[in-house]
Amino acid sequence: MKKPRNEMTITFLSRSANEAFSRSAAAAFFSQLDPTVEELADIKTAVSEAVTNCIVHAYRDTLGKIRMTARIYDGGEIYIQVKDSGCGIPDVKQAMEPLFTTCETGERAGLGFAVMQSFMDKVSVRSAPGKGTAVTLRKTLSQRSGDEAGE
Ligand code: ATP
Ligand code: MG
Repeated sequence: MKKPRNEMTITFLSRSANEAFSRSAAAAFFSQLDPTVEELADIKTAVSEAVTNCIVHAYRDTLGKIRMTARIYDGGEIYIQVKDSGCGIPDVKQAMEPLFTTCETGERAGLGFAVMQSFMDKVSVRSAPGKGTAVTLRKTLSQRSGDEAGE
């Protein structure tokens, strides 16, 4: 894979307060690309869904670590990976179907992956039951300023 122009990784606990923290951290990192308000909102929404899934599903009644890596490539291409070491997903294809949820309390709509897919260009999921899940989000941002990532 080609080399990123910039990269950052943060690790945080699966506390619900960290949902807001992680989406703001991602937004702060990608701000160097001078994204539009809409692009920034899309990124924050997608990160929020991925991190919420780690908090509520991967580590359901426990606390664990979530690692988020964000990268910038030439041409305004961005990459975000949200990784947990939680329960894993037995059937990824099924989990990604709109309205599929394992939540039995009726609190969840089963739309998290659908939201990620609609706000990002590409969503890929790798998971191993008992080991954890990695969700990768990709998007190409518009290059408004011309000098991407400001050199
Ligand atoms: P919503 O996101 O609308 O609140 P949801 O979280 O159930 O509802 P999705 O985000 O689409 O819906 O996820 C679908 C299902 O995939 C979840 O119900 C859960 O079973 C499983 N899942 C998603 N992410 C993870 C994860 N990181 N670890 C374990 N299971 C996951
Ligand atoms: Mg969800």
